[in-house]
Amino acid sequence: MNKKTDIIVVGGGPCGSYAAYTAAKHGAEVTVCEEHEDVGGPRHCAGHLNISSLKRLGIRVPQDVIENIIKGAVFISPSGKQFVLRCSNPVTYVVNRELFDKHLAELAMQSGADYRFKSRVKSLVLDTGSVKGVALQGEEKLKANIVIDAEGCSSKLLKQTGLKGLKSGMVARGIQTEVDGFEDIEEDMVEVYFGRNVAPGFFAWIIPRKDGTAKVGLATRTGNPQDYLRRFMEKHPVASKKLKKSSPTYTSIHPIPMEGPLPRTVSSGFLAVGDAASQVKPTTGGGVIFGLTCAQIAGEVAWEAVNVQDFSETFLSSYQRRWKRVAGFELNTMLRMRKMLDSLSDRRLDNIIGLCSKLNVDNVLEKAGDLDFQGRSLISVAKYPGTAAVISYFIFSWLTSTTRQ
Ligand SMILES: Cc1cc2nc3c(=O)[nH]c(=O)nc-3n(C[C@H](O)[C@H](O)[C@H](O)COP(=O)(O)OP(=O)(O)OC[C@H]3O[C@@H](n4cnc5c(N)ncnc54)[C@H](O)[C@@H]3O)c2cc1C
Repeated sequence: MNKKTDIIVVGGGPCGSYAAYTAAKHGAEVTVCEEHEDVGGPRHCAGHLNISSLKRLGIRVPQDVIENIIKGAVFISPSGKQFVLRCSNPVTYVVNRELFDKHLAELAMQSGADYRFKSRVKSLVLDTGSVKGVALQGEEKLKANIVIDAEGCSSKLLKQTGLKGLKSGMVARGIQTEVDGFEDIEEDMVEVYFGRNVAPGFFAWIIPRKDGTAKVGLATRTGNPQDYLRRFMEKHPVASKKLKKSSPTYTSIHPIPMEGPLPRTVSSGFLAVGDAASQVKPTTGGGVIFGLTCAQIAGEVAWEAVNVQDFSETFLSSYQRRWKRVAGFELNTMLRMRKMLDSLSDRRLDNIIGLCSKLNVDNVLEKAGDLDFQGRSLISVAKYPGTAAVISYFIFSWLTSTTRQ
């Protein structure tokens, strides 16, 4: 084994780099092991990120990373009804995920983190139940006081510590293609399509970029995502018209954890963050903001552990308590919302989207504040009559459809 470092981070995705940055800027010695020869690839994500959440995290996104600035969304029901939610101010950025990940890695490197590329972690090194480092593909082993698992949607390392991993039935398969053009889509609006034939258990999206290209994708928990995407682009009564002259330039498939956060993310000498801990919004599959929020906490707790030289599960459990305080209610509320959405028939989704557009709910939703914190947003807007009506209808639909099952 080589010289011991304070912290090894497995994975140079956004969550790994942000945890590394946070711990390194406090003074911890951090090594990031990334299996690829660089960070950011292969890209798979829409990069649709809430601006106020990025500000809350203290992340200034460089201009060249921003592909578009979005003011709202058009929701298209299974039968083609539309609800337009437009805000007066920009709400989200569409970022180039490759450049975004590189930016976070640069922040970590500038703070002193050491990146080891082409370094695939094969397993954890355990000693009497405590994590003491990692074994890389090949013969090499690296010693550390703490390993932060940021390997993405996988439970390989986590399960080695005895923690409960992701349930395979609760992982959706996301597919996204980048296309060279589109028609009849407002440049500052994303389009979201619902329907059991469109994307069962999820939704499809078209996200325009400023340069005239777009990201088109969906996720599904059943069937073949490629077949669904082809059907969406070629046959969907609304989307196919907008995409009829578009050719795909780059396509990727990647898993999305949908089960809400894992119950335990800590063991002796070990913390799990981001997709590896399923810190992903079950409503939208968005994992960057909550993952970064938890990664920041993981970096802080890892640094505090280094400071007092206590790497026990008891000490590191403060990571679990702190991320639950910040994100636990939200993620669990979104899990309930996801279950409600799953139980709605296409006809009820049609009715809800129709009702939203009739009741002018867009004016109210703009007041909802942080769209990442959907649980709190729901509470804050529920006092407005239009939204209250939609939420009541939504709950009523859900109750009646579940009691009938
Ligand atoms: C189609 C699609 C669209 C999405 N769109 C959005 C969106 O618009 N907004 C949003 O917020 N989220 C979105 N997501 C989710 C988002 O991409 C993830 O939540 C986010 O990337 C999680 O970050 P992470 O750092 O935890 O993991 P990853 O980004 O998966 O990074 C993991 C890193 O670890 C490396 N790695 C893995 N195993 C090892 C190993 N054994 N050794 C060394 N290195 C390893 C990988 O190479 C990778 O660099 C989308 C996901 C998909 C599939």
